[in-house]
Amino acid sequence: MSAAVPIRHAPLAGVIGMPIAHSRSPRLHGHWLRRYGLPGHYVPIPVLPEHLAEVLRVLPQAGFVGLNVTIPHKEAVLTLADTVTDRAALIGAANTLIFRPDGKVHADNTDGYGFIANLRQNAPDWQPEAGPAAIIGAGGAARAVVASLLDSGVPELRIANRTRLRAEQIKAEFGARLVVYEWAQLGNMLDGAATVVNATSLGMEGKQPLRVPLDALSPDALVTDLVYTPLMTPLLTEAQQRGCRIVDGLGMLLHQAAPGFERWFGHRPEVDDETRQVVLE
Ligand code: NAP
Repeated sequence: MSAAVPIRHAPLAGVIGMPIAHSRSPRLHGHWLRRYGLPGHYVPIPVLPEHLAEVLRVLPQAGFVGLNVTIPHKEAVLTLADTVTDRAALIGAANTLIFRPDGKVHADNTDGYGFIANLRQNAPDWQPEAGPAAIIGAGGAARAVVASLLDSGVPELRIANRTRLRAEQIKAEFGARLVVYEWAQLGNMLDGAATVVNATSLGMEGKQPLRVPLDALSPDALVTDLVYTPLMTPLLTEAQQRGCRIVDGLGMLLHQAAPGFERWFGHRPEVDDETRQVVLE
């Protein structure tokens, strides 16, 4: 990568993806910039896969200090970045890029951080080490959740996915604490689980609900959903009715954005109710 221009103007950042118009990140970062009175701009940038390499080469020369990355570029940016954090390499995807002053591109993944920070903020008594965690799904987001839960000290991590092979692949990469369950055995997977996570897209507006029998779910379990449209997914509604603590997925979206904002604009933003409201409007 060639050197970036010295920054003499307000720093620029943004989110690249395709499609990108639906992204809530510009609203979130724009809110934080205004709230803290910081100079800077954050824009959505539609990028086709065939243009990704060129975009990453050019933006550092055009005053950009970094980017968020979303579908379909999260995996491809790893091969284009100059440096990659261990956690992004382990997860196999990056969602945050830092453009260094010499033009080099540094890739990180903050989804796992956002996932844990959301639970710590909204269920302060949650103890990951208290018992097994059960993860439903084995896509990109599930990989970040698995990495962060293992880091947080879960004693056992159960995982089930419609396409079993993807769950087997995660076990092969992440190791001995993982146990793969059959998709048809989702209900059994919840038996004795202290933490339950929906990391599939099921339950999203316009998609089928996640159908999982909750008879074996303990009321002591914490249940969270990565889906945040709607905030109260069918899984969360039913888990709450059974007496479980629940945490919705919006906080993960907000918290995963904070490290990038701090690196680009120089201020660690607070995630609070006002931030939630701005993104929900
Ligand atoms: P992904 O890589 O495409 O994975 C999708 C997952 O959903 C896979 O496990 C897939 O199973 C499963 N799935 C999809 N349709 C299904 C169906 N009809 N029946 C059973 N399983 C189905 O997507 P991702 O990036 O991991 O994202 C997953 C969800 O998390 C999305 O809703 C996304 O919006 C959300 N998310 C939220 C945050 C946040 O900040 N809250 C962050 C990241 C992602 P197969 O492998 O069998 O296809």
